[in-house]
Amino acid sequence: MPIICPNCEKDDAIQKISAVVVGGQSSGTFYGPTAGVAYAGGKLGFAGGYTTLYGRNVSEIAKLLAAPIEPKAPPEGRGSTIIGVGVLLGFLALICNDDISDLGYLLGFFAVVIFAVGIWLMFDARKKREFANRQKPLWNTAMRIWDGLYYCWRDDLVFSPDGKIQLPSEKVQDLWYK
Ligand SMILES: [Zn+2]
Repeated sequence: MPIICPNCEKDDAIQKISAVVVGGQSSGTFYGPTAGVAYAGGKLGFAGGYTTLYGRNVSEIAKLLAAPIEPKAPPEGRGSTIIGVGVLLGFLALICNDDISDLGYLLGFFAVVIFAVGIWLMFDARKKREFANRQKPLWNTAMRIWDGLYYCWRDDLVFSPDGKIQLPSEKVQDLWYK
């Protein structure tokens, strides 16, 4: 069974949204009858530039239909490096403490502050990592859904072939986890 738009019940203006997004990103090219939206049986082409026959801006639609953003964890090691600097300063403070005590205190103060920042960074990075790990399965699911969606240029409608999802292009980003 061919996939048709649930609204106009035609297949001549539909395209996988993943293809729309890829088409929208390759800016600077004219979409001839062999590429992009024009795949739809030759009946649909681009009036020119980045506007479709239905008057929609391709790159704008592509932005609206963009894939869910992959959750990314911050790199490890930044916090521990800073903790290391704090510890080093702490040793320096101990050494200096014998002679000019003011310098020792100052270094000690900085050591404590830097150490605290390092600890905080480490916990913060761990929290973000855990959050990203929890988001990962949701993102995978969202990507599977995203990959199965179609767009009808005629109706500005995003839909799943089973008809369960039907919404205008500007609502697509609301589908994804937050
Ligand atoms: Zn349609």
